[in-house]
Amino acid sequence: MHEKATHQQTRTHNRQLVLRTIFDHGVISRADVARSTHLTPVTVSELVAELIADNLVREIAQTDREDVGDAKPAKRGRRPILLEVAADQHQIVALRLAVHEFRGALLDLNGEFVFSKTVPVGAARDAQAVDRLTELVDELVERARKPILGIGVASPGIVDTVNGIVLRSVFFGWRHLPLGEILRQRYRMVVHVANASQVTALAEHLFGSKRSLSNLAVVRVGQDVGAGFVIDGQLFFGDGFGAGEIGHIVVDEGGDLCACGNRGCLETKVSTVAVLRQARALASAHPLSPLAQAIAGAEGQSLNPVLAALAVGDPLAAQIVRENASYVGRALATIVGLLNIQHIRLVGSITQFGDCWLEELRSTLLENAIPDTAQQTEIEIAEHGPNAVILGAAALLLSRELGLTLARRAGSWESRDKRNSNLSFD
Ligand SMILES: [Zn+2]
Repeated sequence: MHEKATHQQTRTHNRQLVLRTIFDHGVISRADVARSTHLTPVTVSELVAELIADNLVREIAQTDREDVGDAKPAKRGRRPILLEVAADQHQIVALRLAVHEFRGALLDLNGEFVFSKTVPVGAARDAQAVDRLTELVDELVERARKPILGIGVASPGIVDTVNGIVLRSVFFGWRHLPLGEILRQRYRMVVHVANASQVTALAEHLFGSKRSLSNLAVVRVGQDVGAGFVIDGQLFFGDGFGAGEIGHIVVDEGGDLCACGNRGCLETKVSTVAVLRQARALASAHPLSPLAQAIAGAEGQSLNPVLAALAVGDPLAAQIVRENASYVGRALATIVGLLNIQHIRLVGSITQFGDCWLEELRSTLLENAIPDTAQQTEIEIAEHGPNAVILGAAALLLSRELGLTLARRAGSWESRDKRNSNLSFD
């Protein structure tokens, strides 16, 4: 029994290894897969046959790929048949649950967005919020034209990613919500759920231009605030899955009430909502300022009025940016002090403040961390912008189900981002 289980595990591992090798190379012969994986040619042939039968891999015609790198023409006789991942033969459902809206997307295995839709959450909470989500997934499933590989979910709050349970999401009022199981039963599919900030770190680690960094922190400052850590090449969840919940560290004792029940959490100081609240207060105190003019009549959660005031050099907008960066910068100093991670990426709507915000962050970090350590730390705005979280949800599913790292695909994913750049930040 035990031996049988071990044999199955080895087989699954080898199958993932073969698939990942084909994916990372783009096109490759069976012989080169064997060389690269150190598996025997017979094992590779068996596993490739299985992957072809499952429509995950296909053979490609020689005439189409004469100039392909690895597969040099043999001196005599036939050239080897090449393999590639049949990326368009399956689709993934990726979900991003942000505070004010749910976004769902259908992607192929290359990260090409096949379909994407955002629905407002409004006042829906608890079970109602789950209903909104399943309505969205119903539509995605209906629109899928290929077999769906599974569902990847990026949720706010603390998520038991092993069992797919949202342990606590303060905003939606979810406690111990078995979201993975709910979706699994309804759609009869594989489902993986993780915290939004954590999967964003995975996306940045896998698809970023400096991919394969062994240590990386991603800090998300938007509608909510959180961080994700890749440590020694692995996503770090913490003992209770709550690693990175920096948004609920109290930074202003007795400050504003936070959704978590405490007062003065970082999130109450730097989130989009907090920034807009501060902007409205400053605008009403300075009714003739560009900020006041920009904010008059503006609705919703967009930062556009503050960005507009910043663009014309309004000192009030500059003050907002400075104060925001000062709080976020001190949070970065804590991360650097605790973990000495030298690569930090920032995502979320507040990153739209751009270079002036980034400069303030860097100088705050220098003032609040050991200078040598701070100087070695590279802080940048992440590449994937509004797509960072949903790519994270897709990366979670692909890495868990197929063992794909997608490292090779970074370039193509960037171009997807550009094509999908009309999306809202979270
Ligand atoms: Zn809080």
